[in-house]
Amino acid sequence: MSIKTSDLSFKQRMRENLSDSFKRQSIAAAQDLINQKRQECYDKLGDFEKWRDLAADIRSHVLDNLDYYLEQFVSNAERVGATVHFARDAAEANAIAREIFRKKKATKAVKSKSMVTEEIGLNEALEEIGVQILETDLGEYLLQVDNKDKPSHIVIPALHKDRKRIRGVLAAELGYDGDDVPENMTKFVRGILRQAFLSADIAVTGCNFAIAETGTIALMTNEGNGRFVTSIPKTHIVFMGMERIVPSFRELDIMFSMLARSGVGARTSVYMSLITGPKAPADVDGPEELHIIIVDNGRSAVLASEFRDVLRCIRCGACMLECPAYRHVSGHGYGVLYPGPLGAALVPLIAGYKEYKDITKICSLCGACNDVCPVKIPLYETIYQHRRIIVEREKLTNRLEDAAFSVYGNIIGHSRLYRAATRLAFLGNWAPRVSLLKEWCKSREMPVIQKERFRDWFARRRRGEA
Ligand code: SF4
Repeated sequence: MSIKTSDLSFKQRMRENLSDSFKRQSIAAAQDLINQKRQECYDKLGDFEKWRDLAADIRSHVLDNLDYYLEQFVSNAERVGATVHFARDAAEANAIAREIFRKKKATKAVKSKSMVTEEIGLNEALEEIGVQILETDLGEYLLQVDNKDKPSHIVIPALHKDRKRIRGVLAAELGYDGDDVPENMTKFVRGILRQAFLSADIAVTGCNFAIAETGTIALMTNEGNGRFVTSIPKTHIVFMGMERIVPSFRELDIMFSMLARSGVGARTSVYMSLITGPKAPADVDGPEELHIIIVDNGRSAVLASEFRDVLRCIRCGACMLECPAYRHVSGHGYGVLYPGPLGAALVPLIAGYKEYKDITKICSLCGACNDVCPVKIPLYETIYQHRRIIVEREKLTNRLEDAAFSVYGNIIGHSRLYRAATRLAFLGNWAPRVSLLKEWCKSREMPVIQKERFRDWFARRRRGEA
């Protein structure tokens, strides 16, 4: 994939997704269900705010000392036998992976869910050299075999599909002839994936957290695919965003508690894999070679900027599930790998304002995301700040917008002009018919503006006139 997931324009994406009532209903139902589960989990955990403070402090501490913890992690990972690589950008990360595949003469790979590999476009880079790479997370796998649309959520990629549509994909692409009971469909896919695990040359995973103290990679999955991927193939490549470090297992405990609860509303994930180096002589399974590729891809620049807090993100997806704008336009409306408030805050930073300025508009600044983010990232403030930068520093507005706001600013800043304008405000009743405002009025109801202004009506009353 890569950061950009759609070639449609902003307007086209909005139109397409707002008019897809099936998708909107699926998203709304999933949001309501998971949000309720998340709330119940946190209620049982105790003081949510204290947990959030703790998690935010851990992430901030790591970011403030990232050079120290990275060095510690690398030296411990190498001590236990892993090979560590650093990649400045997507091209370097893919080149390192391709080289490992070439050396091993590998043609088949299995992959468990990893956002950073999506970010760098790993699948495409490997397919170019003839590698067949299979997604093994159920949602990702369905989207891969269907090959029609992209993930709409970072934790639940097929959030926009219901069981009937999933059955349709399995029947059309894989010849499934069973019912749409989730257990039966999962059993069918399991049969296919088991064979793939057994025949793969190389395993590819992401990394939920890397533990500096021991050089361990920690992975959370709910389907067990992560365990298969990391146990059977002889070579394992881990892709890790450079900020995904925790100092020790004590902090990992806190972060995992928050990730499971915030991500899917569960007390813990079903599987947790802790990988410390390649297979030891006494181990019955595990890879003989473990490569860890630490990916920067714009993160250093974010770390050095006023937006460092955004790097606290643990990719739980809670902000998306809470966001009213996401509810309407879905993940596909953003047209980027990271949708929702996280995407609007992060993507312009790592991929540039010029191409991604529009996604900062998909936000009502209501602040709902801030209230659920387990690491207290100031999301809406960041998005608001991006909008300022887009206008004031980058000057990426269009002339029409500039002219409209300059007229508005002049009117609102001069009392005489303002008074004169309020006399003509009733002309706004024509807004739904004026081409410039037509689009805006399609999804909003304009109130009817009275010809007589409030101040004139009030003065009339005071004069005792009817
Ligand atoms: S920004 Fe916060 S809520 Fe959103 S995915 Fe990241 S950690 Fe989760």
